[in-house]
Amino acid sequence: MSRLCVVCGGSKGIGRAVSRLLAEKGFRVAVLSRNQDAARATVTSLKGVDHLAFSCDVSQEQEVQKTFENIQKTCGNISYLVNAAGINKDSLLLRARPEDMVSVLHTNLLGSMLTSRAALRSMLRARGGAIVNIGSVVGLKGNSGQCVYSASKAGLEGFTRSLAKEVASRNIRVNLLAPGFIHTDMTAGLSEEEGARSIPLGRLGEPEEVAQAVLFLLLSPYVTGQVLAVDGGLQLAM
Ligand code: NAP
Repeated sequence: MSRLCVVCGGSKGIGRAVSRLLAEKGFRVAVLSRNQDAARATVTSLKGVDHLAFSCDVSQEQEVQKTFENIQKTCGNISYLVNAAGINKDSLLLRARPEDMVSVLHTNLLGSMLTSRAALRSMLRARGGAIVNIGSVVGLKGNSGQCVYSASKAGLEGFTRSLAKEVASRNIRVNLLAPGFIHTDMTAGLSEEEGARSIPLGRLGEPEEVAQAVLFLLLSPYVTGQVLAVDGGLQLAM
């Protein structure tokens, strides 16, 4: 049986591109998102037949626990986890609504902690596995109008490095991938010209280009606790 990867936020954008690439490479994929129809639609588009869709809000502890138990019962041991579920509710801090701050932090930061914890039980039993968290260059460099979002992504850096230290002796690796501006629904409001001007490579990235780097981190047996920017050089210019 091929190895199982859980892709949180796999129904759209970067997570969907990761799910597609992994399926092409022979992984079994469990696609998670709140909208089960969207997760199912992604699964239907994947190469191969052993993939499954699950509805789960990663910010809800009990939901995460139940879903991961269900995944293990249905699909077996979890070898890999990609935390690509994320939201942004951008505004200047003075205008930010506390409920939006909570939902961004709970989805982007707490969500990755909850899913990692749930997947680790399986990885620890198997004495091996790999987790890739999806951060952002904004978490590394900061950005006006994105205080809360960038804090959630900066938190993932500390989380990734600390968890990498906690589980390295069990042959489990944890890395952070920091995309720049990528063509997905999340950047639909961004002016193409304006965005591209700030990027040294002169264009936004594609989800498939991020997926290639996720695959690299999942399969590189001697890489852990690292931050890899996939941003067309954007952080050099920030
Ligand atoms: P996207 O197209 O909006 O996709 C977001 C995915 O996350 C969807 O599958 C969504 O499905 C899922 N999701 C959102 N909230 C969730 C929750 N509470 N529980 C479970 N799933 C949830 O966004 P994207 O651009 O692919 O972003 C993917 C990741 O990359 C995010 O973490 C984002 O912050 C990060 N990122 C993106 C960019 C960029 O330029 N696009 C740059 C840097 C970092 P449902 O809505 O059905 O739940």
